[in-house]
Amino acid sequence: MTIYENNEIWFVTGAQLLYGGETVKIVDSHSQAIVNGLNESGRLPMNVVYKGTANSAAEVAEVFAKANVDPRCVGVIAWMHTFSPAKMWIHGLKSFQKPLLHLHTQFNREIPWADIDMDYMNLNQSAHGDREFGHIVSRLRINRKVVVGFWQEESTAAQVASWIRVCAAWADQQNLKVVRFGDNMNNVAVTDGDKVEAEKVLGYHVDYYPIGDLAAVQADVTDAQIADLIAQYEDQYDLAPNAQKDGADRNQVVEAAREELAIRQFLADKGAFAFTTNFDALHGMNQLPGLASQRLMAEGYGFGAEGDWKTAALVRLFKVMTKGLKNGSSFLEDYVLDFPGDGAILQAHMLEVCPTIASKKPRLEVHPLGIGGKADPARLVFTAHPGTGVAATIIDLGARFRMIVNKVQVLEPKAPLPKLPVASAFWKPEPNLSVGAASWILAGGTHHTAFSYDISVDQIADYADIADIELVVIDESTTTRQIKRDLTLNDVAYMLKGALK
Ligand code: MN
Repeated sequence: MTIYENNEIWFVTGAQLLYGGETVKIVDSHSQAIVNGLNESGRLPMNVVYKGTANSAAEVAEVFAKANVDPRCVGVIAWMHTFSPAKMWIHGLKSFQKPLLHLHTQFNREIPWADIDMDYMNLNQSAHGDREFGHIVSRLRINRKVVVGFWQEESTAAQVASWIRVCAAWADQQNLKVVRFGDNMNNVAVTDGDKVEAEKVLGYHVDYYPIGDLAAVQADVTDAQIADLIAQYEDQYDLAPNAQKDGADRNQVVEAAREELAIRQFLADKGAFAFTTNFDALHGMNQLPGLASQRLMAEGYGFGAEGDWKTAALVRLFKVMTKGLKNGSSFLEDYVLDFPGDGAILQAHMLEVCPTIASKKPRLEVHPLGIGGKADPARLVFTAHPGTGVAATIIDLGARFRMIVNKVQVLEPKAPLPKLPVASAFWKPEPNLSVGAASWILAGGTHHTAFSYDISVDQIADYADIADIELVVIDESTTTRQIKRDLTLNDVAYMLKGALK
């Protein structure tokens, strides 16, 4: 994943020539200082590049046209140092197709009470210049992030940084290919949807391949490749006795490695960074490729089980958004309820939970799988570490996509789970099980989610703004009555939205 290294954010400063060329030169030097300051803050995951001042409608149109076509540019930050009459931004903004952040900052932190004069006032006009700019962006109904703060403050850089992560993930989704090995699980509603609309609205492309195509790739996997990969397993995990060399089920580890190597090859050939499997479509395969799914997720691939391509793309989104962060993210599924106290939910899946969320070294085990009719699959078994995070989903309502996000608290399991042969996470949905789960169900949320410890609700909101899709937030302040009102108002808003554009 090189998106953070190979791409950049552009910084454009609005000004005008009313105050003379000398003023523009100062604006220019201040802008460069701010960009340097942000880059040197050590907080930004991607470089910001200063693109100069825009002093006329023609200059605004030119910089946005360049931003649209430059594949390195994944978003633009705009700042109005002086008053920049906003009619000159109309054409450029109307044509702009990438994420926009409006930074409401000022070169100096404080008012220089003893020295302030009208020259100073005319140069440092962000307070009203940024409002003029904000007016036209609102009038054009363009979604954008607004960050208010002094540019040298850590909290300002942190807000810009979290938005840049969303921009990177959004850009990745525009080039993402999701491979489906087999179709969606028959009769399941929530994991299905409109792939054409997803490509139009969310950007990614979804392709189907018969599982036999993957089975055929296994024929090219060599024993030496398998031996190398198993050496990695032995290095990274504790192996259960039956999975160890000369163990009774060692061959299932060998076959798991063969499947992993085949999937890696297949995805590389297709240029795909997300995939789905289906336990019901495994012709020519030895076992459900659970270990492969776990390990590929850990490397940044998106994954969805039972053909759930929307969640596969969302897990990839989370992986790109959290690149380099340490707390982990995963595909998960709501499995079993625990009612005492605030209530909680045991999250797990048949096999496929990402080991980046593990509390300690995962254990590689081989057990039978009750469904699918294949041989016993290898899998990593662990429990997730405690912490706060978000669980999110995107559902297809027919006429639109809805993103639902629930803040969750991952808890220590109340007791060991000696008989559970899969990885799990035990979490309390905010504000509690009663309201959290009721809200999620009322919103029509999936049983599959993308989960991360390192993503904030604000970042999910930024993503929903960029994609221009509906957002439903379930957090500490949520009540069931408020969620029902939100859902009703959203229905009305989306009905009217066409008329407002
Ligand atoms: Mn499932």
